[in-house]
Amino acid sequence: MQGHPRIKGPRSVHDRIAIVGAGPAGLHMAYELKRRGFHNIVIFESRHEVGGKTTSRLYRNVWHDLGTINLAVTYDKTVALVEKFNAGFDIIPNPPSSIWSNRQEFNSAFEAFSVSLPKLLEASERYIALHKCFFGTYDGELMPRPSPDILYRVRGTIDDFLVRYNLTDLRPLFFIGFVVNAYGSLNETSALYALTFVPPAVVRSFLRPDRGLYRLRGGWQNLCREISRRINVEIRFNVNIKHIHRENGIRILFQEKHFPSLHVDNFDFLILSPSMNSLFGIMDFNPRELAIFTHLRNLYFLKSIVNSISPGRRALYPCEVFLYDLQREQYSVYVYINLHQVENNVTGLDYQQGRRENTDRDGSTYETSVYHQFGKANPWKRDVNSDIQRNLFQHLKDFNKGNPELVEQVTWSYYFPNFPPEAITEGALWDVLDMQGMYNTWYIGSSVSFESIESVFEYNHLLMKLFF
Ligand SMILES: Cc1cc2nc3c(=O)[nH]c(=O)nc-3n(C[C@H](O)[C@H](O)[C@H](O)COP(=O)(O)OP(=O)(O)OC[C@H]3O[C@@H](n4cnc5c(N)ncnc54)[C@H](O)[C@@H]3O)c2cc1C
Repeated sequence: MQGHPRIKGPRSVHDRIAIVGAGPAGLHMAYELKRRGFHNIVIFESRHEVGGKTTSRLYRNVWHDLGTINLAVTYDKTVALVEKFNAGFDIIPNPPSSIWSNRQEFNSAFEAFSVSLPKLLEASERYIALHKCFFGTYDGELMPRPSPDILYRVRGTIDDFLVRYNLTDLRPLFFIGFVVNAYGSLNETSALYALTFVPPAVVRSFLRPDRGLYRLRGGWQNLCREISRRINVEIRFNVNIKHIHRENGIRILFQEKHFPSLHVDNFDFLILSPSMNSLFGIMDFNPRELAIFTHLRNLYFLKSIVNSISPGRRALYPCEVFLYDLQREQYSVYVYINLHQVENNVTGLDYQQGRRENTDRDGSTYETSVYHQFGKANPWKRDVNSDIQRNLFQHLKDFNKGNPELVEQVTWSYYFPNFPPEAITEGALWDVLDMQGMYNTWYIGSSVSFESIESVFEYNHLLMKLFF
């Protein structure tokens, strides 16, 4: 990164390094460090498996992703890892979606958002020119720290930015890129996240027939499993970290889940990958760190695998988006994906009328689909949880799904940890970068970059580039 003072990091390849979290960011960091000769690495993981938000389940012969699904054209670091750790994955174009604007009518995305192509093209060109004018050309995802003047010009939310620069014709693009990916609403999420995650290349790709969106066939978690298998680093699963002290080295106090005895282990360097605001209870963050990380906020995201004995009411593509309650009600069901139909490219009337359903070896034929819901309220609160389940089952009823049965439901806390507009204008993302290594600690993962698998890999590359 041009003009950036080199960051601090581990002093020698013999240093003992602790990485907290065996999600994509933690595993990829371990891989990058091992490649550079660091051999004394231990990963602490609170769950029983690697992968973090890339959990995938093989169910009825199809991989169901309960976290990460899509890739965009900018995902070059991810594609390189998929190729390097090839475990039989395929990257395939994402199918188009059908959009329900109410419970009765559906359309294509272009029709549903009443997009005028000439206006979209014209606004795209102006967005691309503005982007170049503000940030120039740069490598990677996070641009070098912009001047205070540029940060002021891109201040506020995505909506503020689009209105300020007369770019509201691009709203559908950002609505799909942000709201439909549960990255908050356009009048809350900082414009800078849009400018980093939707650079000119993504805007151009959105106008192509495949919209520049792809998916991985084979389960994202398997990429993480393959990385963890091949890097040969000690991973301690089911750990419950009680405290991390950073005086005279790093001292981690932890329990193994279900066992009362307390263990202590000492390290020379610490790498934190979970969302920084999830660590307040265990980290000895100092005032400088707290001044930045207390600004972080996040959402919650649920995915549910549901079986039903009839196709019910369907649109024309096996990925359906339900817009009508999305902005009005928390945890409305807003996406449905039928992965068997996606994998087998079943669309049109074949899909709508259920002519090519998933058939088990025993001859049973039924629908298995994944439903998405997200919100701000804590889903572990009983009243919030009962609203969530009620919304899900009401939706299944509205769409005539016969005898629906919940197979698995995953709730993600700390989804899309992000800085609000004021903190971004103050330079929070670059303040974190300047602080890297200062307290024998690197901060990685989605809370200091962006909630996408490519963003966390990109950020690790940035640290590698600045440190080595
Ligand atoms: C529902 C959903 C859909 C998504 N869709 C996409 C998509 O389509 N495309 C895309 O690019 N990205 C998508 N993402 C985002 C992507 O999955 C994440 O950005 C990525 O997984 C972040 O990696 P990470 O390592 O930073 O964090 P995580 O994946 O969250 O991993 C953090 C790890 O740290 C562990 N941990 C947390 N706290 C502690 C602790 N105190 N002690 C020990 N271990 C701890 C966790 O168990 C976890 O294993 C999606 C995410 C979700 C949840």
